[in-house]
Amino acid sequence: MPVVISCTMPKMVLSAPNFRRDLLNWYDRHQRSLPWRTPAPAGGRPEPYHVLLSEIMLQQTPVATVTDYFQRFLVQFPTIESLAQADEQRVLRLWQGLGYYSRARNLHRAAGVVMRDHGGVLPATVEGLRELPGIGRYTAAAIASIAFGKCVAAVDGNVTRVLCRLNGIESDPRRGATIERLWSLADSLISLRRPGDFNSAMMELGAIVCRPKSPQCLLCPVRHHCRAFAEQSQDRIPAPPKRRKLPRVRRWTFVIEWIFEGERRFRIERRPAVGRWAGMWQFPTIVAGCGAPADDDVERACPAAASVPRRILAIDHSLTHRRYRFTVFHGVAAAPDPDGIWASIDELDRYPLPKPHVTILAWLRNREASPTIGS
Ligand code: SF4
Repeated sequence: MPVVISCTMPKMVLSAPNFRRDLLNWYDRHQRSLPWRTPAPAGGRPEPYHVLLSEIMLQQTPVATVTDYFQRFLVQFPTIESLAQADEQRVLRLWQGLGYYSRARNLHRAAGVVMRDHGGVLPATVEGLRELPGIGRYTAAAIASIAFGKCVAAVDGNVTRVLCRLNGIESDPRRGATIERLWSLADSLISLRRPGDFNSAMMELGAIVCRPKSPQCLLCPVRHHCRAFAEQSQDRIPAPPKRRKLPRVRRWTFVIEWIFEGERRFRIERRPAVGRWAGMWQFPTIVAGCGAPADDDVERACPAAASVPRRILAIDHSLTHRRYRFTVFHGVAAAPDPDGIWASIDELDRYPLPKPHVTILAWLRNREASPTIGS
């Protein structure tokens, strides 16, 4: 049924059948070859576990980054069963560098629920998928349509941009009413015959043609259906987010080493089980005070530290809602504290570390290779 777009300009009619035809023809010719799109041997759709894994990894992370992680992950955990049986620390270590670690923890928990409650088979419906940890509206719709052929539209950031431009929607796409309007527009366009391909094609179009900046309209297979192109308003649609200044928080991190039988070992600690970087490991870190750390601060961070730590690095790290400044100090311990965990550089590779601590580890490795660094 044609979708009538209402606005103050003369009415423009988007013909859903013609739009689908043009979009899917383009997708059949131009889709990227991505490892999670390979059809399962038994049928024409990709393996559901692969779709689940790719959709979780692709949240907030670009395709180019995800591809390697996806392949490495499948080598370690080829089935949902192997993932469910794995130790969470191993899963986090493999996820290291992808960020948003709650995704990894939820994925691991979801695998456990699938094994325990669904006999190892991923639910095929949006409702069933949404019962799993970490799976929201978009991810459930994407998995249900791509892996199981369910006729449900999936609207992510790329699809939001395409729909806003196609329909000349200038209102903020982060507002509730606009979000609902976009989901309903996507529902009215989806292909009954190829819902998974339709959703993938919309995302693909947003990723490689209808890009946030400089959309490639002259190469676009659906430009004849596009209101923004007709009005040359594509550069101001969708409405940009309101920029907020991110709060900056400061941390002091202490790299305390103890030399045991000629090998350097470093004090590490595990982060709390909830919150940012939950359950991961780090060099002892505390909230920074004013000026330089006092003896009490050093004692609190690492009771074994024997020397006054010396500043070696400053690391800035931005997350969605805040910016961090880690000031890193180096010191030595005369002897390890009895309850502390001390790891060599090679052993540190086995621990899941947040990105700023991976940077510190890289600095320590460089120093091993070139001892004049930081001396
Ligand atoms: Fe996007 Fe341009 Fe295609 Fe419209 S014509 S959907 S703005 S790339």
